Amino acid sequence: MSCLFCRIIEGAIPSTAVYQDEHCYAFADIHPQAPTHVLIAPRRHVESLASACDEDRALLGHLQWAAAEIARAKGLAKGYRVVVNTGEDGGQTVDHLHLHLLGGRALHWPPG
Ligand code: 5GP
Ligand code: ZN
Repeated sequence: MSCLFCRIIEGAIPSTAVYQDEHCYAFADIHPQAPTHVLIAPRRHVESLASACDEDRALLGHLQWAAAEIARAKGLAKGYRVVVNTGEDGGQTVDHLHLHLLGGRALHWPPG
């Protein structure tokens, strides 16, 4: 299997698990951009938000719910950001859909 995040999800590549259930796997980003930087990925390979289809609608909601659950568990009461980089202009570098959960510091806007 050539997809990096599929390999992480199946355990072939080590990662630091933060949360998991039957639909998603969340793990620490290897190059954290904030004190909390968690990636939340569906277990099923979906290439990007742009390629999500009708049957992924509930899954997309579930990923957002998982982000909020993790933020609560991490105590990010002051706030946080959830980002989905999509495609070339969106800065997506791994072609397996994932949410970034960033928190633990004040985040700038616009993000650049
Ligand atoms: P993207 O740029 O696609 O939105 O996000 C990909 C993220 O995956 C980046 O923040 C990058 O640091 C992270 N990443 C890339 N390779 C690995 C890896 O092997 N393990 C982990 N935990 N994160 C990775
Ligand atoms: Zn994948």
